[in-house]
Amino acid sequence: KMNTNLGQHILKNPGVASAIVEKANLKQSDVVLEVGPGTGNLTVLILKKAKQVTAIEMDPRMAAEVTKRVQGTPEGKKLKVQLGDVIKAELGYFDVCISNTPYQISSPLVFKLLSLPQPPRCCILMFQREFAMRLFAKPGEKLYSRLSVNVQMWAKVSHVMKVGKANFNPPPLVESNVVRIEPKHPRPQIQYPEWDGLLRISFVRKNKTLRAGFLGTSAVIELLESNYKLWCAQNDIPIDDGPLDGQAEQPEDVEMDVDMEKEAEEEFKGFSDPDMEDDEIPDFFTQAVKRPRGKGKRRGKVTELVKEKIRRVLEEETGLADKRARMCDEGDFLKLLYAFNKEGIHFA
Ligand code: SAM
Repeated sequence: KMNTNLGQHILKNPGVASAIVEKANLKQSDVVLEVGPGTGNLTVLILKKAKQVTAIEMDPRMAAEVTKRVQGTPEGKKLKVQLGDVIKAELGYFDVCISNTPYQISSPLVFKLLSLPQPPRCCILMFQREFAMRLFAKPGEKLYSRLSVNVQMWAKVSHVMKVGKANFNPPPLVESNVVRIEPKHPRPQIQYPEWDGLLRISFVRKNKTLRAGFLGTSAVIELLESNYKLWCAQNDIPIDDGPLDGQAEQPEDVEMDVDMEKEAEEEFKGFSDPDMEDDEIPDFFTQAVKRPRGKGKRRGKVTELVKEKIRRVLEEETGLADKRARMCDEGDFLKLLYAFNKEGIHFA
């Protein structure tokens, strides 16, 4: 009996299984990682074409079954079955990863593979259709999201084939697609938390201009201001955070912010939209729109300075102020990150 909590949908169509392994273009010298071998339908095909295979399987019954299946064959010697959760496992070096992925771990698996010290040459992975399409979506397409930019920063992603539910036993509720992920060499030299922080802010309002996303939401300005102050402190840069010249210290110009935040709150409700994932809601934003506003906040010289820096980055340094996040590719976001960092504005 299958355990569908573990995403156990066995690929029963041998044609699809061999097509997946074909697409990996394996060499006889390759070390392969297979995630979730199940009963071993892909494993036996991979073993014929590779030097060595490590198969990580969470379910002991499946691990036993795949082990038994190749025992006593010449291929059996090339297989090492590792019992456990691939997300927690320590992965040694491998050239290629192949997986009919349990869909619960799609996103963590992709980022685990991309963050390895020596990423593999190629990954051939089967995912639930919508997730797969988000991985290779291009700017302007409906499914283009933070996930798309994030993955495309570190890898070339391409579509391999569609696989209908009828090819599995038991059939899953959703259709599947196979994608190829080829990590870029050399790996782009950017810090992940900074990069992801920038994308989180940008994609909260992905249909709005970057100007609206960065300057129209006081939660964003507050966050960047506090990051800026921290950065100045760490770098011994003195700051003058007094009240604005010629004015008594005053709360924010509440009126504008109420409007803007109302709008943001509306969009926040829109996060149940199927093309947005829950993990695309930044925590600081969730808290900011729930927090009572206006009172207690002050707007000093540093707020104005940070806003001016943001404006300069968007309008002068990058010229991206009027572009919408959903239209920006990873090159645009990289430009933004460099320009913000040059101004001392950080995202992590
Ligand atoms: N590769 C087989 C095939 O194509 O027929 C089985 C694929 S089935 C969709 C996914 C397999 O991954 C199951 O055998 C399941 O037990 C295993 N699995 C689920 N979560 C896992 C995890 N976190 N780490 C390793 N294996 C996992």
